Amino acid sequence: MTNITKNCFCGNQRPFEQCCQPIISGKTAAQNAEQLMRSRFTAYVIEDFPYILQTYASQQRSGLTVSQLTDSAQNTQWLHLQVLAHHPQLNTAQVEFKGFYQVDGRYYVMHELSDFVREDEKWCYTTGVIQKDSGEFSPERNSQCLCGSGKKFKKCCGT
Ligand SMILES: [Zn+2]
Ligand SMILES: [Zn+2]
Repeated sequence: MTNITKNCFCGNQRPFEQCCQPIISGKTAAQNAEQLMRSRFTAYVIEDFPYILQTYASQQRSGLTVSQLTDSAQNTQWLHLQVLAHHPQLNTAQVEFKGFYQVDGRYYVMHELSDFVREDEKWCYTTGVIQKDSGEFSPERNSQCLCGSGKKFKKCCGT
């Protein structure tokens, strides 16, 4: 039997314990905006809303609470992250991604262009612009399942 390493929730081919977990727990800092973005996606998957709040830039953070974030994420099951582009500058960065999720058995994609800023040496999320191709979609029955199992959709979540 081959030993298959389980991918992190963010899609990186490393286990959670060596990828987003040390960042979310505060053991290490995100080295760039893409790492921060991935760790925030993972935090949504594992429902660590205090981490989501803490990684907003100060201006955005001041208008938010953990319970607001928890409420807005209810019923949403995040499945898969695809990072499309990362444009780092010195103290700002943009990350383009597609996040796939499920609500009440239906599939959705959120295609976002996110802005990040570095505050006190830490990368933080500011805002994002949702792209027009976001919304509900039907997964191809023969494509890889979005849950990351490595199986075809029709033999996994699509049965
Ligand atoms: Zn990760
Ligand atoms: Zn699946």
